Amino acid sequence: MYCKNCGCTIDDGAYACTNCGTYVGQGMNFCANCGNQVQPGAVICTNCGFSLNGGNTVAPPGAKSKMAAGLLGIFLGGLGVHNFYLGYTGKGVAQLLITLLSCGALSEVSIIWGLIEGIMILCGNINTDANGTPLGD
Ligand SMILES: [Zn+2]
Ligand SMILES: [Zn+2]
Repeated sequence: MYCKNCGCTIDDGAYACTNCGTYVGQGMNFCANCGNQVQPGAVICTNCGFSLNGGNTVAPPGAKSKMAAGLLGIFLGGLGVHNFYLGYTGKGVAQLLITLLSCGALSEVSIIWGLIEGIMILCGNINTDANGTPLGD
């Protein structure tokens, strides 16, 4: 990989650039993947397409599934299942209680609410779980 501050090569596993002393991942002048100089404020490298903002859109191992959460919202949104799945327990309880306490009379409210959230999850408008962890595919 390459130093994002000065563009020189850094050994994999090193935590700072031996040339300029900048910590790995700091700096916005060069692409860490290909060493190409990038425009200030750019979010991806125009040379190789690598994410320049630390790759924080990449879901970690064990991340919740966006697809599963979205489908749960669309099909079981009235019970708040997708919110329980993502850890948004308060919202999930609210949707569940609206359905249960009204004996189903207001179930359409939480069904539509869940449906909208399910679509937002699939479209990426909701892209983290309750802990702020990015959702996987
Ligand atoms: Zn450097
Ligand atoms: Zn690049």
